[in-house]
Amino acid sequence: MLDDLYRQVVMDHSKYKRNYGTLCGENNINKVHYKNPTCGDIMVLYIRVGPKGIEDLSFEGEGCSISMASCSMMTDLLKNQTVEASRKKRDAFERLIREGKIEENIDLGDAESLQGVHNLRARHNCALMPWQAFDKWLKEQEYE
Ligand code: ZN
Repeated sequence: MLDDLYRQVVMDHSKYKRNYGTLCGENNINKVHYKNPTCGDIMVLYIRVGPKGIEDLSFEGEGCSISMASCSMMTDLLKNQTVEASRKKRDAFERLIREGKIEENIDLGDAESLQGVHNLRARHNCALMPWQAFDKWLKEQEYE
């Protein structure tokens, strides 16, 4: 299971979700719907883009603690990031979950506390959900 200290960070994010709700404004707001059928978690990710990259993110959704904590952590982490930097974080987070590895030169902030999910194979999709939503948006933008 998750380490105690990590568990506290995860529970805090799932209980007090950061960046929960829609984003205000008319233009430059992208909306991505995503669901994790293996657990029933659902979410909508909102991304506001500016000339330098990602300016703001928020989300709405329902699901297990791991999925909601991961949404909360990711939306914090990717604010004010360039598309390139956010793509590196996405790759690093995927390795964290799939391989259990923390990369020293890429800061994943509170999202590193989800490392223990690596050992819970059935929950991989819960932790990865917001990142997969983000990845879907990246692909739609033809950034890759
Ligand atoms: Zn879940």
